[in-house]
Parts: sequence; structure tokens; C-alpha cells
Amino acid sequence: MNFIGQSAKSVVIIGGGASGVLLAAHLLRDPDPDLRVTLLERQGQFGQGLAYSARHRDHRVNVPARGMSAFADDPEHFWRWLQRRHPGRYESSWVFVARRLYGTYLEELLGEAGEHVPGRLRVLSEEAVALHETEGGVEVLLANGTSLASHSAVLAVGHETQPARGRGIAVRVGSESDTPLDPDAPVMILGSGLSMVDAWVGLCEAQHRGPITVVSRNGLLPTAHRDVTPLVIDAADVPFGASMTELTHWFRALVEETTRQGGDWRSVVDGLRPYNQRLWQSWPGQEKRRFLRHLRPWWNIHRHRLPPDLHAGLVRAIAQGQVKLVAAEFVGIEQLADGVRATIRRRGGSSRETMDVARVYDCGGVSVDVRASGNPLIRQLVQSGRARPDTMCIGLDVDDSCALIAEDGQASSRTRVVGPLTRGRYFEIEAVPDIRVQCANVARSLLAPAKV
Ligand SMILES: Cc1cc2nc3c(=O)[nH]c(=O)nc-3n(C[C@H](O)[C@H](O)[C@H](O)COP(=O)(O)OP(=O)(O)OC[C@H]3O[C@@H](n4cnc5c(N)ncnc54)[C@H](O)[C@@H]3O)c2cc1C
Repeated sequence: MNFIGQSAKSVVIIGGGASGVLLAAHLLRDPDPDLRVTLLERQGQFGQGLAYSARHRDHRVNVPARGMSAFADDPEHFWRWLQRRHPGRYESSWVFVARRLYGTYLEELLGEAGEHVPGRLRVLSEEAVALHETEGGVEVLLANGTSLASHSAVLAVGHETQPARGRGIAVRVGSESDTPLDPDAPVMILGSGLSMVDAWVGLCEAQHRGPITVVSRNGLLPTAHRDVTPLVIDAADVPFGASMTELTHWFRALVEETTRQGGDWRSVVDGLRPYNQRLWQSWPGQEKRRFLRHLRPWWNIHRHRLPPDLHAGLVRAIAQGQVKLVAAEFVGIEQLADGVRATIRRRGGSSRETMDVARVYDCGGVSVDVRASGNPLIRQLVQSGRARPDTMCIGLDVDDSCALIAEDGQASSRTRVVGPLTRGRYFEIEAVPDIRVQCANVARSLLAPAKV
């Protein structure tokens, strides 16, 4: 066994995407010379993960640079890095940079955190396949057959990449099957959210001229960002625990009032953000389910917005007829000799319709019931009863300190979880502004003497 031991405090972080890197950076801000951090990443690229490994220039962050600092208590940190990196290029911090550039920021952040405290950070390009708690800590088994021992572990394994629909006939953007296409060929995209925009951007950059049909159940497109100041909302005015109907009435009234006074609905959405996790937690399971079923698509398009120029480009492509938005249910797909045949059922209709296209991109959601996880580590934890799905089955069950909760309801004192997999408890935990706060809190509690 490969011991991290010797030191009084050792933490192994599994997953070196944004969450893992942010947590390592937060931990290494602590001056404790005994602290040792090991970061495991199976892809070998640190700071990239699913979001920031994006290939195209116009695969951009959907949060302005001013919101993407690694540290909530140093909100200009990313903006200063950006100005050092590209002096004079950006006039204001209300800019939406390429996601791969943000990945470079995270990679450098990790490098600096390691240099700042030599010997305290170890990064390994390895996959963790199992985790066991021992008397003194945790043991992490690696795919290469060796293992690591540490005092505590944090799962930062991020998004599940589900296989594309249609048993691999549909294609995920950026996957190996995403090969160049005939620029005049018809294409279908399943899903109309931000991942659809990624697919459309990729086609635009490849000078695609053929028709693009975007199919989603609701036919809703993400809205555009605007530089607005978040409305200051008093916590006492937020109807925590109210039914979905009451909350919607309250929210609509606030939007109407704000726009009547010359404001913008975005100010209300952004003003509510500090309370989103608390709102989610204030609902009983039934309301959470109602939200996920009925309101989530509507909320997503207003909350996760597009850079205005990308939004304008998409709206233009729809107006010019190259992109067609169809509200329909995806029924199935079959392989043809020279392409694929997709079957859909339009919203409100009962008959099926087929479309022959060169490719179907699957841009559906990335969350998955952890019981069907494709990640061997998550499967091992769930199957052994050391972890369980949250009540909504949208991630792993964790307690207030992000400690992993076992099948028997016991919270682990050794294993925590950060990032999107904690969405069952927090819901609003997908984006950097929320993850960095979570990482700061988890780092603090891991370093608290009684907890280690
Ligand atoms: C397409 C897309 C665009 C987004 N854009 C933005 C944005 O602009 N701004 C924003 O704030 N948020 C954005 N997000 C939200 C995003 O969730 C977070 O910003 C963040 O990237 C989440 O990072 P993560 O490390 O938790 O997950 P991931 O990015 O999924 O990274 C997890 C990492 O863990 C590794 N891993 C998994 N299992 C193991 C294992 N067993 N052993 C070793 N390594 C393992 C994976 O290889 C991966 O690198 C976007 C999300 C997506 C999907």
C-alpha cells in the first residue's frame, strides 16, 4: 500500500475537474505544514473536467468573468489572472471567456497552490475504483492495482457522462464519434439547453450549412445575459417552505414590480440566488418533485443564461431557418446505410414522425441516478451500502457538512462529497460561484482539529 501517512492530516481528493481543483486550492491556503493533499484525476488533465475541456473557442463560460473567481472572498482573482494573461484584451469583467481558458486558470491555480507549499500537494493521473474506510482513515483502490491511505477522502467526481441515446447511434459532442460531417447534411440535436448550444457552436465553427433540427420536449431556448445588478431581496420576504404555486405567484409579482419600475427580470433571478439552496431545502419531497417535473426547464433557461452575442447568433440562425426548434418527444433512432433515422412525436400530437439526418447529437442532461452510475467508484460505494442516492435520486445523499451518508443513514466521518453530485441536498450546486463556497466550507471542516 502506498501511504500518504507520516503527516498528521492527509486528504485524498478523487476527481481533478473544477471541484477537485477548487477544493485543493482552498485546502492549501491553510498554512498547516502537516497537511498533505493528493488529487487523483483519471483523464490526466487537471482543472478541465467536463465543462472546461471544451474544444471550441465559442464554447464559453455562462457566468461572467467577475463571477468565476476560485475564491468568494477574493472575487477579482480570476479577473486579475485574465488581465495578466491577456493584457488589454478585455475592457470589463462582464465578459464570457472560452471555457478552455478557464480550465487553464484552474490548472495554473493548482500549480501555484502546489508551489506555494512544496511537498504538500501530490497530483496523480489515476482512476480510483473503490474506497474503504479503515480504523485510521480511508483506503482508495486505484485502477492500476495499487492503493492509497489517507485520513480522509473527498469525492469530486462530477458529472456522469451517460452513454448517448439509441445504443450509441446518437453522438455526444466532443466524443470520439463526433467526427467531421458533410457541411450540407441535415443534423438533429436532442435537447435545447446549453449543451445544445455547444453542439450548434461546433457546427458553426465547422462552417456547417445544412439544416439543424433541435428537438426538445418543451421547445424552450436559454435566455440571454444582460449586465444587471441583482435585486436586494430580504430573506424575510422569501416564502421559504411555500408551495410551488405560492412561490411562483410571489416570484412573478416581484418580476412584474421590478419591470414596472424599469428593472429587469434577470435582477430578480440573480437576487434570489443567495437563497436558492435554502429554498430547495425548505420544500418537502413532493414540492421538490413538482419543481423537477414542471418548473426545472423553465427555471434553467432563465437561471443558466447565454452570453448575449451567442444568444443573438442562435436567434438569427432560427430566424433565417437554418436552425429549427421543434417541441417534441424523442421516440427512437435507427441506423441507415448513409445516416440515421430519428423518430419523434410532436408536443400535443399523437402520431410519430421520422426524419433522416446525417447525425443525431444527444445533448440531454448529464445527471443520472447514481444506482446506474457508469463510474466504478460510485457503483462500488452504492453497492456496498457505503453510499445511497438522495431522496430525489439526482445525486449522492450527504449531510450538512457534505459527509457521505451510507445506506443505513450513518454519515461518514471520513468521506465527503463536493460538486454536482451533492445536488440532492443543495440543488444549486452546479456552477463555480456555488462550488467555491462549498469547497471553502468543506476545507474548513476538514481542517478543524476535532474532525480530522
Ligand atoms: C458543458 C458544461 C458547461 C458548463 N459551463 C459552466 C460555466 O460556464 N460556468 C460555471 O460556473 N459552471 C459551468 N458548468 C457547471 C459545472 O458543473 C461546474 O462549473 C464544474 O465544471 C463542475 O466540475 P466538477 O469537477 O465537479 O465535475 P466534472 O467537470 O465532471 O469533473 C470531474 C472530474 O473527476 C474525474 N473523475 C471522475 N471519477 C473519477 C475517478 N473514479 N477517479 C479519478 N478521477 C475521476 C473526471 O475525469 C473529471 O475530470 C458547466 C457544466 C457543463 C456540463
